[in-house]
Formats: sequence, C-alpha cells, structure tokens
Amino acid sequence: MIELDGATGEGGGQILRSALALAMCTGQAFTVRNIRAHRPKPGLMRQHLACVRAAQAVSGARVRGDELDSPTLVFEPGPVRPGEHHFDVGSAGSSTLVLQTVWPALLQAQAPSRLRLSGGTHNPMAPPHPFIERCFAPLVRRLGAGAELRLLRHGFAPQGGGEIEARLTPAAALVPIDLLARGALQEARVECVAPGWGQEAALQALAPVRAMLQELLGEAVGIACDTPRVPAGEGPGQILMVTLAYAHVTEVVCVLGGKRGVSPAALAALRQALHAHHGSEGALGEYLTDQWALPLALAVHHTRQAAAYSATVLSLHTRTNFEVIERFLPVRFETAQAGRGWRVSVAPKHPG
Ligand code: AMP
Repeated sequence: MIELDGATGEGGGQILRSALALAMCTGQAFTVRNIRAHRPKPGLMRQHLACVRAAQAVSGARVRGDELDSPTLVFEPGPVRPGEHHFDVGSAGSSTLVLQTVWPALLQAQAPSRLRLSGGTHNPMAPPHPFIERCFAPLVRRLGAGAELRLLRHGFAPQGGGEIEARLTPAAALVPIDLLARGALQEARVECVAPGWGQEAALQALAPVRAMLQELLGEAVGIACDTPRVPAGEGPGQILMVTLAYAHVTEVVCVLGGKRGVSPAALAALRQALHAHHGSEGALGEYLTDQWALPLALAVHHTRQAAAYSATVLSLHTRTNFEVIERFLPVRFETAQAGRGWRVSVAPKHPG
C-alpha cells in the first residue's frame, strides 16, 4: 500500500487525481491522508469525489473514505474496464479533471473507450475544454494513442450543465517523445466565447486581448479573431482565449468572465501570462508542464527510454506532481534551468 500525504508541496487536488490515475495504471493500492490540506476548504469536495467515482467505475476499485469533506481515502484498484462510461460531476465541477483522472488508464487498456462527461467544461483553476482539445490531446496522440474530443454543450461555472464526449483509443505501445522546442509560430488566434452575446459585444470584449497580443508578436504577425455564436442557454459565462499554435505544440491562455464580463484584474492576469509565455523559450507553458508529466512518465516506464521537455516555468504544482509520479513508477525526474526556461528530463530508474 502506497502512503501519500496530501499536504505535500502544493497540497491540492492534483495529488489525489494523479494517485488515482497511477493506481489504475499500475494496479497499486494507495492511502492518502490530509487531502487538499493547503486549500481553503480541505478534504474531498464534490468534484474530487466525482474523480474517485469515475476511477472506481473504470477499475472496479474498493474504496474507503469516499465521502464529502473526507480528509482520507483508501483506493484499491482492480483491472481496468474500458468501454462506455458516463461520468456526471453532479455540479459545475470540472469534467476535464475527471477525464484526465481516467485517461491514463484507458491509454493502456485492452480496448477503446467512449466517455460522456457532464459538468463544467470551462472552470477556473482547471483546464478548459479547448485547452484539452488543442494542447493536451495532440501530445497524447503523439505518444501513439487515439483521442478525439467533442464539446457537446458548454458548461461555465457556477452553473455547469456542460457535456463532453471523448473517444479514447489505447496505444499499441506508448512511445515517449522529446519536446524541447515550440517550433515556428503557425497561427495566432483570439476568441471570445460568450453564450447569448451578439458579435459586437464579443468583438468589443476581445479588442484589448487582440491589442496586447499584437503588441507582443509585432504588427507583421496576423491574428485571427473568432466570436462563435453560442446559444444563451449554455451560459451565462464567457471565456477570452488566446491560442498560439506552433509547429510542435499549441498553447491556450485564457481568462473566464463573471456576470459582468471579464474583470480588469483578470485581463491584467492574462497580459502577465502572455508576457511570461512570450518571454520564455520553454516548449510547454505552466499548466501543460504539470499535466504532461504523467503520460510521458508512463511512456518512459513502458519503453525504458528517457525523454525530455522544456518548460516556461516549474510551479510547485509541477514539482509536487513529479513526486507523486515517482511514488508509483520507477522513473526519476530531473530539472535544470535552460536558457529562458527549464529542462525537465524523465528517465527510467532501471534503463532497458
Ligand atoms: P489542483 O489545483 O491541484 O486541483 O489542479 C488544477 C489543475 O488544473 C492542474 O493540473 C493545472 O495544470 C490545471 N489548470 C489550472 N488552470 C488552468 C488553465 N488556465 N489552463 C489549463 N490548465 C489549468
């Protein structure tokens, strides 16, 4: 039984989600105490319980402590069951975080799966659906697995009510890749998705985002502008997104708006995130850096071949995730500052 302390490092929900994913992938049971100890409301919240339930459904696990607010969980996985699954977060909790919890196990299952996930699709502090579709899924496909995602209905916090379909095909063999450079910029796009808004209001909301991106990229770079029409019933809510598609990787930087649209503080945070991304040479941005660690480590473990990537920043989140992964898989993460960013390497502890 692997014993984890949820108060380690970042002390958030990712410790639990990564542990669930890795337990299913490796068949190892774990106990985690002090769940989400560093969050204002520690313990299992509805959205984390949804991850536990999804992991239980996919692996037939025996589980103890799976109650709201519980600070401890014991999880003993059985064999992975690919196929059709429907996971309902039961609130506006993030459905993409549920997807990322079960995805690694389904990557190495014996058959394809089709998942329907209901809940939030565009949540704060979680990857919005476009991030998963444009940034994360293409990298998973490069490991050799199939992944097709469809957004059936938007679900913005706090209402939720969104729906995603994911068709996941396991890899015949997960093969690690190096991702050390972004490659040339191929497309820059700004988008405002705001259910019920007319085009004029959406374009107005986008204007400052477009201006800040143009200033960063220079006047010579063309920026596409998109304001898709979304029925009012899928709101209220808005997201302003910047998508930067490079030859080897795509980045989505976004902010969510409340009832009165996107606040000046949120716009300032977007500007800061864009500057940080532009000012670094790392291939993967802050969030992709922590999310990519687990699937890549699985591929490294399967093939016993080392792999590396470069990152704009190494957050405490990321370092904590490395520690959790090392508890389940015989791999070692090493990090070093490299140019205007970081280099992360993952190596098997016992090379083949
Ligand atoms: P935690 O706070 O531990 O529950 O983890 C939150 C997860 O959401 C991490 O994997 C982050 O990388 C991810 N995340 C948070 N904000 C974003 C964002 N704006 N875009 C993409 N991923 C995000």
